[in-house]
Amino acid sequence: MNIAEDRPRAAELVGNAATEARNRIVAVETIPLHIPLRGAFKISVGGVRPFLEVLLVRIRTADGLEGIGETQAWRRLGSVETLASLTEAIKTHLAPRILGRTPFDLPAIVRDMNIALDRSLYAKAPLLDALYDLQGKILGVPLYQILGGKARDKVGASAVVLMKDKLDDTLEGAQAFWDRGFRAFTVKIGENAANDHVNVREIRRRFPDVLIRVDANASMSFDGALALLKKIEPYDIESAEQMIAPWDLDGMAELSRRVTIQMMADECVATEQELLEVIKRRAATGIQTKISKNGGIWYCRKLWTIAAAADMRIYPGNHPTTSIGAAAVAHLAASWPGDLADGPFAMGISGNLEHDVVTEPLRFDGRLVPVPTGPGLGMTVDESAVSAMRVDR
Ligand SMILES: [Mg+2]
Repeated sequence: MNIAEDRPRAAELVGNAATEARNRIVAVETIPLHIPLRGAFKISVGGVRPFLEVLLVRIRTADGLEGIGETQAWRRLGSVETLASLTEAIKTHLAPRILGRTPFDLPAIVRDMNIALDRSLYAKAPLLDALYDLQGKILGVPLYQILGGKARDKVGASAVVLMKDKLDDTLEGAQAFWDRGFRAFTVKIGENAANDHVNVREIRRRFPDVLIRVDANASMSFDGALALLKKIEPYDIESAEQMIAPWDLDGMAELSRRVTIQMMADECVATEQELLEVIKRRAATGIQTKISKNGGIWYCRKLWTIAAAADMRIYPGNHPTTSIGAAAVAHLAASWPGDLADGPFAMGISGNLEHDVVTEPLRFDGRLVPVPTGPGLGMTVDESAVSAMRVDR
């Protein structure tokens, strides 16, 4: 018996005129959501945020299969989007490049979307990820198989320790993550240097073995950043993330030379060209990518490849996201052969969001996120949760 004859042949799934017609994309739907953030969610810029602005994108084929992708309108330096601007970019400029094609036209769609709209990575991300999700669903395999296969079953996540008014509350937040098994903390800093110093010192005192990073979200002056980094240098800080403005790469390089703490680039890298500039100027030796900021799996993988070639540390990250955005990173990480730091890619679902949008949210096994094994992203939308948080009807 020929085993190959028992399997669906590729042509039956993707490769002939009849299947092409079934896989043709007939609808691109945008779904704007407000998802309540738990507690007082605060970083150094933008005040307390009551809710997360999420835009889900659902792409449907003639066959009725649906691919899903996520982006966020997360305004701070380096991201200017609103739910309305994302929706308009997708409906008017990007969706017309997708309709009538199949998910396997993804590279051609990338090219044509770039002609239609330069950059606009926050708007392109959910579309590209939804196309990957559909490829997996059509072929009946998890997304990491579409990316070439799997190098790991679980992906390490870090905790984000948010700013609280009282030190005890900050430490309590850190303790809760430690108790759950997290061993890498991103400590948000940049609003008040004296408080930042105390927070970092006390976190180090309470958790002698934890890996500590600090993230100023681009809010500090060069002088302020240098002074604070000098003060916290003795506390064994693994890296300092985006201490100063995204455009001051020379300042970042100068900070790298003046302290032993390694610099990490976040807000200053949206595109491949921006990463090349960081590398050329030696402005950072680590990079954090985000599914929405960097244009989805397609572009994040390019950034990781460039970063790895420059021997940079790679931190899989995200703004707060639902399980959909976190699953996209999990599949990318699963397919990645090189080293990855425990990154904050699952911070939304590790404790910051009140609700998820899928029927079976990503689980945690301590600090590890098991990579979903269902077709595509492996996520099923929870229709009632989505309709309860929708803001366009
Ligand atoms: Mg950051």
